[in-house]
Amino acid sequence: MLIVQKYGGTSVGSPERIRAVAARVARARRRGDDLVVVVSAMGHTTDELVTLAGRVTGHERPQNAHAREMDMLLTAGERIASALLTMAIREEGLEARSFTGSQAAIITDTRHTAARIREIRGDRVRQALAEGCVAIVAGFQGVSVEKEITTLGRGGSDTSAVALAAALKADRCEIFTDVDGVFTADPRRVPGARVIRRISHPEMLEMAASGAQVMHPRAVDIGARFGVDIRVLSSFIDNDDPERGTLITSSKAGMEETVLTGLASQKGQSKLVLRGMPAGMGPVSEVMRALASADVSVDMVNEASDGDGRIQLQVTVDDGDAEKARGVLRDLAQRLGAGELEERHGLARIAMVGTGMTDRPGVYARAYRALFEAGVEVHGVSTSAISITVLVDGAHENDALRAIHQCFHMGEEAETQTVAER
Ligand code: ADP
Ligand code: ASP
Ligand code: MG
Repeated sequence: MLIVQKYGGTSVGSPERIRAVAARVARARRRGDDLVVVVSAMGHTTDELVTLAGRVTGHERPQNAHAREMDMLLTAGERIASALLTMAIREEGLEARSFTGSQAAIITDTRHTAARIREIRGDRVRQALAEGCVAIVAGFQGVSVEKEITTLGRGGSDTSAVALAAALKADRCEIFTDVDGVFTADPRRVPGARVIRRISHPEMLEMAASGAQVMHPRAVDIGARFGVDIRVLSSFIDNDDPERGTLITSSKAGMEETVLTGLASQKGQSKLVLRGMPAGMGPVSEVMRALASADVSVDMVNEASDGDGRIQLQVTVDDGDAEKARGVLRDLAQRLGAGELEERHGLARIAMVGTGMTDRPGVYARAYRALFEAGVEVHGVSTSAISITVLVDGAHENDALRAIHQCFHMGEEAETQTVAER
């Protein structure tokens, strides 16, 4: 059996942790499996390197001004961890060899700091496996079609692992992290959260894209497209039970029948409301076009009547894009003869995710009541086929998550939830 395992930063955060990971890898290898191990940088290494670059350059976001060099810098973190883990595995008496993303021939596009994998050749990894070695691959990195070193975006080691599992047609893909699996909500924010045993790729993708840090969204997307089942589990439990943690899979069988599968949240959203806009598709599409040309990505859009045949247009963007969006909207307001611009910053998006919501009316009404009772004001709503997202003040992020989690009895097993809902 070929297993791809990935260990996150906390899992290899110290010499002791690296030795514990080496021992786990050795146990699996001794059971006769072939192993490819993807590893993240130790502990907070990546954050520290970003801070260091900030101090040297004076830029708050050095990746904007020095994208190529940031990739050179940040890939060093994973390179250190992979070399150290390889040494520890060799000390266990096994053959092991480390590879950078480039050596593993993980070929990406040319977008520094946010590259996408185009193809994985992986010849040297296959060769190492054929020679009986454990192959250790530095996560979160590749080499571009122009032979430059690239990274896959923060949290991207998950993507390296799932893409390798797809390319090598692995039998299992295991993501080892610092919590027991994918929870119904971030267990550090919602005390009653529980591990979801099985979740579909689309639901997991929605959670990941909405801020559930435990999996990188691209990893889940690749898993869905190439049919890779992904198991998320803790590296801190010394138990080799292959069924523990969470299985992210395409097959529906065994999924819980709940209304909501999980919650995810993301801070740092801004809402801009332009009042007194001329009504009609023309002006609105002009606003959207202008924001797009300024490279501002818009999350929610809402229109409401402002009286006198005018409308108010509400858009939400990342806090980091708010200044650009303000400039664009002020210019347009003048040109279109619109009224004032109102702004609110530091909002959090709370996403309620679940295919169980489909054809079930009243989910939003229930959530809204729970938020109201918890004293949380809602500043916007958007929906997709499998999610409802509400915008709340950043200071109320945890209150909102806890209120919704409790109202839908998400901490309880599926049967109790269905009963409680009636
Ligand atoms: P790693 O370093 O292993 O990649 P991350 O820090 O990227 O780990 O992701 C794990 C963290 O994700 C957990 O410690 C947890 O706080 C956070 N998290 C957010 N949402 C969830 C969720 N729904 N289930 C599990 N963990 C979550
Ligand atoms: N070390 C990188 C980060 O902190 C990649 C990863 O951990 O997946 O973002
Ligand atoms: Mg991660």
